[in-house]
Amino acid sequence: MFGRRFTLFRLMGFAVRADASWFLVILLVTWSLATGYFPGVYKGLAPRVYWLMAFIGAAVLFLSIIAHELSHSVVARRFGIPMKGITLFVFGGVAEMDDEPPSPKAELLMAIAGPIASVIIGGMFLGLVTVASKLDWRGEVIAILSYVGLTNIILAIFNLLPAFPLDGGRVLRALVWWKSGNIRRATRVASNAGTGFGWVLVIFGIFALFRGNVVGGIWWFLIGTFVRHAAAMSYHQIILREMLSGRPVHRFMNPTPVAVPRAITVAELVDEYIYRYHHSLFPVVDGDRLVGCVTTQQVKQLPREEWSQQTVGAIANACSTDNSISPNVDAMQALAQMSRRKASHLMVVEGEQLVGILGARDLLRLLSEKMELES
Ligand SMILES: [Zn+2]
Repeated sequence: MFGRRFTLFRLMGFAVRADASWFLVILLVTWSLATGYFPGVYKGLAPRVYWLMAFIGAAVLFLSIIAHELSHSVVARRFGIPMKGITLFVFGGVAEMDDEPPSPKAELLMAIAGPIASVIIGGMFLGLVTVASKLDWRGEVIAILSYVGLTNIILAIFNLLPAFPLDGGRVLRALVWWKSGNIRRATRVASNAGTGFGWVLVIFGIFALFRGNVVGGIWWFLIGTFVRHAAAMSYHQIILREMLSGRPVHRFMNPTPVAVPRAITVAELVDEYIYRYHHSLFPVVDGDRLVGCVTTQQVKQLPREEWSQQTVGAIANACSTDNSISPNVDAMQALAQMSRRKASHLMVVEGEQLVGILGARDLLRLLSEKMELES
């Protein structure tokens, strides 16, 4: 889901990261506050004052989004769910979980914690606005306080919409899960609501666009598309988890992989294996002992004139936890390993012997077959 990410700082043991897209958003928010919002609510100030207000407003808003995600993360940690940290991106923030919540109660409390934090922060700022108006504070300060207060309340309301994967959708899923005892059915209900809501936003965006609100229209359109996509993804993930969890790797692997002898040249590898089988990765063997693997990427990196001189064994990667796995490991764990290491295949190894190969694409094909059969 994310492009390049930068770690900003660590807070209470969680890494706070920003996706590259987020820097663009912070600029956009500051710019629209400085040139649109603040001049609209508080007239007659110099541009540089508006820019200063915008900068402070955006910074405080950004801190309150972190507080929202932090609340999710702290509750999740209490229930023992491993958390990857907080990532800020185009549409706000996400507290990334490594695993599904263990119970409906855990999911409910975890989901509601973020909006509660936003409501409390929003309430505090709006309370401050009342106090500040009585005490005759400067209008610039009051404008910033009320902007942050209102935005936090809007954030809480938007996140509470019952559309998975928004917080409200998680609440909905937890409730259905609680009632039915079936997390998969609950995810389907919540994810359908997410898809529906995503479409509403997309249509809303198109209408706004036609009525001349270009920036708002594009914005709603993009958020809607994102919600739809995320809703479908989370349902796929549940099915995948159900399909793979508790089943060993050897049930899903190809037990007769094409292996390459280490002594042949790279030129022979290209002619007799790559052009013939079109795989992107080949295990490399010495007799029936696995010594590593070679990818088409590695071949591409080797200058062409060396193809007939170098042996496959010389350019092969050694076996490591990056590219190999034992046949008895849980298949879900294998998938997690692939996505963590960005590997499309894992060699399945028992002792030093190659017993199969596991491909991410084969797993996904299985997933789509299963969904096809069940729809
Ligand atoms: Zn949230």
